Amino acid sequence: MDLKPCPFCGSEKLVFHKYSPRHASFSCFYYVACESCKSETSMRDSRELASESWNQRKIPNIQYAEVLVEWMKDSRFKEEYTALQTVFDRLVELIVEEERKSGT
Ligand SMILES: [Zn+2]
Repeated sequence: MDLKPCPFCGSEKLVFHKYSPRHASFSCFYYVACESCKSETSMRDSRELASESWNQRKIPNIQYAEVLVEWMKDSRFKEEYTALQTVFDRLVELIVEEERKSGT
């Protein structure tokens, strides 16, 4: 299964990691990690499941809001930023609340 580029940084430098528990009675786990930004999937039972998890990754809403706020800080938008700061702070609060409710 082909791995999609990293949803967080766009990198294609993705690596499979194999985690072997010290106890032989436990099976190995696999996960996919991005070399550039170090984001990774949770541990899965096989490479296929790890690939699947990776390809289903989405950027959490909160990160969109953070990117937007960073972008607004650009000096060209200083006036707009100051005016909208309150709105954005509230937006971030709402997203955090929403994500807490949905348990992500
Ligand atoms: Zn990445």
